[in-house]
Amino acid sequence: MGMAGQQTARTPSTLLDGSAPETVAAEAARRRTFAVISHPDAGKSTLTEALALHARVIEEAGATHGKSSRKATVSDWMQMEQDRGISISSAALQFSYRDTVVNLLDTPGHADFSEDTYRVLAAVDCAVMLVDAAKGLETQTLKLFDVCARRGLPVITVINKWDRPGKDALELMDEVQQRTGRVPVPLTWPVGLSGDFRGTLDPRTRTYTRYRRVAAGAALAEAEVLDPAQAAELEGAAWTEACETADLVAESNGAFEPGAFLAAEATPVLFAAAALNFGVGTLLDVLVDLAPPAGARPDAAGVPRPVDAPFSGFVFKLQAGMDRAHRDHVAFLRVCSGVFRRGTVLTHGATGKPFATKYAHQVFGRDRETVETAFPGDVVGLVNASALRAGDSVYTGTPVTFPPIPHFSPEHFQVARAVDAGRAKQFRRGITQLEHEGVIQVLRSEVRGDQAPVLAAVGPMQFEVVADRMAQEFGAQVRLEALPYTLARRVVAPDPGVLNQVPGVEVLWRSDGEAVAVLTDKWKLGRIPTYAPEASLEPIGGDA
Ligand code: GDP
Repeated sequence: MGMAGQQTARTPSTLLDGSAPETVAAEAARRRTFAVISHPDAGKSTLTEALALHARVIEEAGATHGKSSRKATVSDWMQMEQDRGISISSAALQFSYRDTVVNLLDTPGHADFSEDTYRVLAAVDCAVMLVDAAKGLETQTLKLFDVCARRGLPVITVINKWDRPGKDALELMDEVQQRTGRVPVPLTWPVGLSGDFRGTLDPRTRTYTRYRRVAAGAALAEAEVLDPAQAAELEGAAWTEACETADLVAESNGAFEPGAFLAAEATPVLFAAAALNFGVGTLLDVLVDLAPPAGARPDAAGVPRPVDAPFSGFVFKLQAGMDRAHRDHVAFLRVCSGVFRRGTVLTHGATGKPFATKYAHQVFGRDRETVETAFPGDVVGLVNASALRAGDSVYTGTPVTFPPIPHFSPEHFQVARAVDAGRAKQFRRGITQLEHEGVIQVLRSEVRGDQAPVLAAVGPMQFEVVADRMAQEFGAQVRLEALPYTLARRVVAPDPGVLNQVPGVEVLWRSDGEAVAVLTDKWKLGRIPTYAPEASLEPIGGDA
């Protein structure tokens, strides 16, 4: 592919100093594409930064040439995240480590929950579940885990903040097993209780990795690998205790089996302190050695498209207004097969129309670099992509349709109206655009009319985003009024409208033609058969 001579564009090949294997299959095989799922404050940003910096330090130490073309994008990205306070605009961070290219897809870090986060999980091959040692498995972690479980994604569990007093390691293993249903298999086991993190035992080799704190800001923790005799001498009771508890877990949970991890039956567990860089290098090694590479992705009919088929990908996220000056729409694609080359004209599956890719970027926060080439597992941001929608497939050559990204069950409902009745046109246009982008679900009914659609959200922050963008971008200020509904179900019935007779239930319509019943509480589900014995209500969401 002759990419080695390019110095300005950051391409996978230049990332690896031009020493990349030349075939798509080989490039796919060295991609690791994952996301971190966690509850706010568990340390996701800290871990993200630590992973990227660790990888960069290792790469730079090992690289013999080409260093000067590499920019300090990671820290720039983090800086921008800090400036903004919350991360809602970044998509993916790419770095090289050992012989792999790691794509870390960002999940919105806000305490609120939006569908964006779920959609990202459609675009990864693996997830890292980050758990605060003191808090255990928290609500948002579990919600996100459920999405991973429905997708059958392999999950690596990282117990973070072991340097702070927290739960007992065995107790955490029980919690993981009970609440995720996956068998936790520790690949490292802590030496020292939580709050006294001395290092980790490798249950397979029984070696001891001893960590020592280094100056703040250093990207690598000082780690020393010792044999069991040295460990026993140095750590005494803490070592004996670690060996005994690790043996207990091994007896009940068995040894690590790659097959069980990939089949989503077991989850490898690591102990870490991201803020001290303890365990960060181990996590990178585990990603490289055990996490699945970008592989053939099944299409909507379940037929896998081989990675070396002609180019294909799907949109997993849309973002508007990233560049305030240009009000543009960026569609983030996950590459599934073939090589993405900037400038190639793709086919947009939903419309059959050509889509030019003159403007393709890797996007880090609001920073952009033109991407020339991308391989399966990589993320590309296409600019001026207002025609593309979440879930859309794009390809060259043989057409392909990837499975639609599922809708998620909304739990918050508000009616939107234009403040200024003279702006009805702008209002309609804005709502439709935001619906297409997947910013919010829009439900309509004849009774409510065009000027009073119901917005349905997974997390209430989605309403704020809608109100803000309607005013700023579409010139239509909106008034939102909360509705008393708390859940939604898809209605399958000859005449869904009959459900409107049930007190506390209203039938609305999605623009794809599906009828959706919204209910004030789940007890209303029990009333349905009395009114409409033939109607069946199905959960929205998941791939099931
Ligand atoms: P996020 O909300 O999940 O992105 O969490 P952050 O990365 O912002 O971390 C939340 C807080 O926990 C910050 O104050 C971090 O410095 C702190 N933190 C993260 N990892 C660790 C750790 O390993 N040990 C300790 N003691 N603090 C940590």
